[in-house]
Amino acid sequence: MNCSITLEASKERPIVRRHPWVYATAIKRVDGQPKAGATVQILSQDGRWIAKGAYSPLSKIRVRVWSWSESEAIDHAFFKRKISTAIQHRQQWVRGTNAIRLIAGEADGLPGLIVDQYDRVIVCQFLSAGVEYWRDAIIGALLEQTRCTLMVERSDAAVRAREGLAEQSGILFGEHDGEPISVNEHGVQYGIDVLGGHKTGFYIDQRDNRRMVSELSKDRRVLNMFCYTGGFSLAALQGGAKSVMSVDSSGDALALAQRQMIMNGYSPELATWHDADAFATLRELRGAQEKFDLIVLDPPKFAPSAQHLERALKAYKEINRAALQLLNPGGLLFTFSCSGAVSPQHFEQMIASSVSEALGHMQDEATNYRVMQRLAAGLDHPVLASFPEGEYLKGLLLQRT
Ligand code: SAH
Repeated sequence: MNCSITLEASKERPIVRRHPWVYATAIKRVDGQPKAGATVQILSQDGRWIAKGAYSPLSKIRVRVWSWSESEAIDHAFFKRKISTAIQHRQQWVRGTNAIRLIAGEADGLPGLIVDQYDRVIVCQFLSAGVEYWRDAIIGALLEQTRCTLMVERSDAAVRAREGLAEQSGILFGEHDGEPISVNEHGVQYGIDVLGGHKTGFYIDQRDNRRMVSELSKDRRVLNMFCYTGGFSLAALQGGAKSVMSVDSSGDALALAQRQMIMNGYSPELATWHDADAFATLRELRGAQEKFDLIVLDPPKFAPSAQHLERALKAYKEINRAALQLLNPGGLLFTFSCSGAVSPQHFEQMIASSVSEALGHMQDEATNYRVMQRLAAGLDHPVLASFPEGEYLKGLLLQRT
């Protein structure tokens, strides 16, 4: 059955120019009764064919484009091709690790699909009606092309509700003894809890930034706020940090981090782990006039959507100002936001105002902070140039003069 949607004339341009989302407000008419996830043809107001995509009746993002080629069928072979292309791309770009994002949604032409590989384990998230509709085809293609021993689904993300889908997770293939999956990233062994951890279990996107922290940690006193399972903490220990203080409010994540520290053979006396609120801890450290040479601030998503932007920016500013004040002269701050609603411009403005507030509290006229580098997710998290919204992780490396 051939269902179609017709776009409002004023809303055609982005779709023609390869933006993969059609908002409900851009649709003038729906012909046929497309089911959730079914393929619809996307037409211009005067009936020209533009693209085809997956219909999602409840989402504000009503259609996500699969293809701009009229002759390309959306079938099992389509998913096999897309998955194979994505995997080849990673083989070309990713080195030094066996924790890799194999499929990054829109950037790989598969809107709503996230697939991460941890050694021989595959973890998938089906986050849109379209990929849910084709899940068997996708799972089949992944099994065939990755030769994994275990496949886990972690579609327990809140965004599923916006697509009218219930959260779902569990084992799709193979058996799992519950032990963390061990991966090696640039010589550090990380343990991944694929069933109980955040998202798919690990923040693969921070790989290059972990490496940079490792390279810059020698003899430094390091503070890792929002440390989760200790990604940046272990990188700092690998790099020869003098000490590493790590803070997170998740006891389970901290327990896994400590286990991994031992597995890697790092001396436990160099590290302290604190199950605490980051905001309160930053205030206490300030009160105690503690100082650090390298600080990592990688908080959770403070702005789940644009509505939360203002409040989120306040929270980002509070922790960044505090962290800037905790730096020794010459000290480094790696600061991040993974909120899609916070643009790189918002982020940099927020940092500029955190810096001016931090400087306002200081007596020393010679102090300033320099932006040394802009930071982003690794090469296995590409962003489509026609879809800048896909860039969610942004960060800055600042140095106190
Ligand atoms: N930096 C981590 C990822 C951080 S994810 C890495 O590279 O792996 C965000 C973390 O913040 C989660 O582990 C969550 O438990 C923690 N968290 C959320 N709110 C917090 C709070 N108020 N204080 C401390 N930790 C918090």
